[in-house]
Amino acid sequence: MAGEPAVQRAILNKFNPYKQVAMRLKALQLTGHPVDKVELRIIGGTWSYYPTKYQGWFVAECFRACNKFSTRGQASGSFPRTGLGMLQKQNEKAKSRIVGIAVETRPDYINASEIKLMRKLGITKVELGVQAVDDTILQLNQRGHSVESTVTATRLLKNAGFKVSYQMMPGLYGSNPKKDLAMFKEIFTNPDFKPDYLKIYPLALVKNTKLYNLYKKRKFKPYTKKQLIKLLVEIKKIIPCWVRVERIIRDIPPKDIVEGGSQNLNMREVVAKEMVKQGVACLCVRCREVRMNYNAKEKLKLFRQEYEASGGREIFLSFENKSRTKLYALLRLRITSATAIVRELHVYGQMAQISTGKTGVSSAQHTGLGKKLVAQAEKITKDSGVKKISVIAGVGVRPYFRQLGYKLQNTYMIKSLSPRNAD
Ligand SMILES: [Zn+2]
Repeated sequence: MAGEPAVQRAILNKFNPYKQVAMRLKALQLTGHPVDKVELRIIGGTWSYYPTKYQGWFVAECFRACNKFSTRGQASGSFPRTGLGMLQKQNEKAKSRIVGIAVETRPDYINASEIKLMRKLGITKVELGVQAVDDTILQLNQRGHSVESTVTATRLLKNAGFKVSYQMMPGLYGSNPKKDLAMFKEIFTNPDFKPDYLKIYPLALVKNTKLYNLYKKRKFKPYTKKQLIKLLVEIKKIIPCWVRVERIIRDIPPKDIVEGGSQNLNMREVVAKEMVKQGVACLCVRCREVRMNYNAKEKLKLFRQEYEASGGREIFLSFENKSRTKLYALLRLRITSATAIVRELHVYGQMAQISTGKTGVSSAQHTGLGKKLVAQAEKITKDSGVKKISVIAGVGVRPYFRQLGYKLQNTYMIKSLSPRNAD
C-alpha cells in the first residue's frame, strides 16, 4: 500500500469531481509519480452536511475518473455512467485504484446511519473537527458540538474500523498555552480519545470575524510566534508512537490573516529546527516513516504496542529498525469483546526505492511485510478467542485481501478464523 499520492479534491459545487481527479492523476503521472494506488481526500467542508444523493454522485464521479484514467490509450476507453457499486467493482481491477477515501466532518454528525452511508461510499478515514476537548472553550467559540460528541464519534468510528483523525486548534478564545498542552496530553492518554492521526491548525485571526471584533476590543489576543513554537515543540515531545501528525498548519491565504502564528507557512520546519536545538525528537509515525533513507539490507524488528481506546484494545504492529527511527510497515488492529478489525495496513518505502532508481534491490526480509503483519493480526485475534477478523479495506485493496482468503461482506473484507478453516 505504498506510494499513494494524496489526491485532494474539494467538494465545492463549482468544481467537477471527475475533472478534478482526472487532472490531478494526469499531473501526478507527468511528474513521474505512481498513480496505481490513489488515496482520495475530500476537503472543503463538512462532508455529512451534503445531501446523500450529492455524496453518492461525487464519490461515483471520482471512481469513474480513476477507472477511465486506467484505460487511457486503449480502445475500450469509455465507461458508462453506471451506479456507484458497479464503478467500485470496476475499480478493483483498474490501473488507478482508490485505496482509501478520507472526509472531514463534525463530531456531532457521526451516528450509526452516517457510518453505514460512509462505508457504502468506500470511505475509510474520517477527520473530525474536534478543535478542543474542553466544553467551556468549545462554547466560547460557538463550535456547536460538545466533548461528549467527540468521545461518541471516536468510539463509533473506531468500532466500524475507520481511521480517526483529529483536527485540533490551539489558541482558541478562552484557551492559553498551558490549557492547550493539557488538552493534547488528554487526547493522548485518555482512552476516550486517542486519535490515529492528528492535524494541528493553530488559530489564525482573520478579519471580519467575531474573534476579530474581540481582538479589536482587546478581549482576545492571539499567540505570538514564539509562544506558538514553544507550544508545538511541547506537543510534539509527548506524541505517542502510534499517532501520525499530518499537518501543523491550515491553508489560509496569508493576506487574510491579521495576526497569529499561522502566517508562518513553514511552521513544521521551524518547529523541527527548534527540536533539534533542544536535542528532542518527535516520535510520531510520520517522522519515522522510511523515505529516501530506505535501506533494503536493514534488519527489521516487529514491534507490538498495545493501548486501551474507546472501550476496546488497540494493537499497533510495526516493522521498524532496531532504534525505531525508521518505520517500514504498520498495522492497526482493534479488538473488542467479540470483534477484531484491521483499521489500517500501510507499507512504506517502495516509492522511495522507485524514485532513487533502486528497484529490485529489496531483500527477502523486506518483501511481504504487509502479509506478515496480516498473519500476525490473525494470530493475535485467534489467541484472543475471536473467531472472525474484518478489514476496512479501500475498494482498490480488496483484491489484496481476497488473495489472503478474505471475502467481501457488507463492505468489509472478512475471514473466518474458526479451527476448521485454519491451516
Ligand atoms: Zn512527528
